[in-house]
Amino acid sequence: MRSTRERMIRQMMTQVECAVCGHRYRAEDIRFLTRHNQAWFFAVVCGRCRTHGLVTVFMQKGLPHVEVTPQELERFQALPPLGADDIIDMHETLERFDGDFAQRFRRRAKDKA
Ligand SMILES: [Zn+2]
Repeated sequence: MRSTRERMIRQMMTQVECAVCGHRYRAEDIRFLTRHNQAWFFAVVCGRCRTHGLVTVFMQKGLPHVEVTPQELERFQALPPLGADDIIDMHETLERFDGDFAQRFRRRAKDKA
């Protein structure tokens, strides 16, 4: 049985377009993967071009929030499609993840410096 919140998120995600061809996802193209605190992770398969993707929805004050900057969109469009290995990697990462996004992003920023 799906929760009201998951149904709401899935409904909202039908407003999200495939980064490759611009086709809007349908509810049946979206599969819930896992949830970690405020972040909900969904696997998507475009109904038109069959490109696989991963969408993260952050809940803010109990409401779903998806925000992608034009720069992020450009970067994502240049990436190769996700494969099964990417989904498995994400699943394993989340299993180990303690939920501290602030520390994780600080660490990644420091690694790049
Ligand atoms: Zn597409």
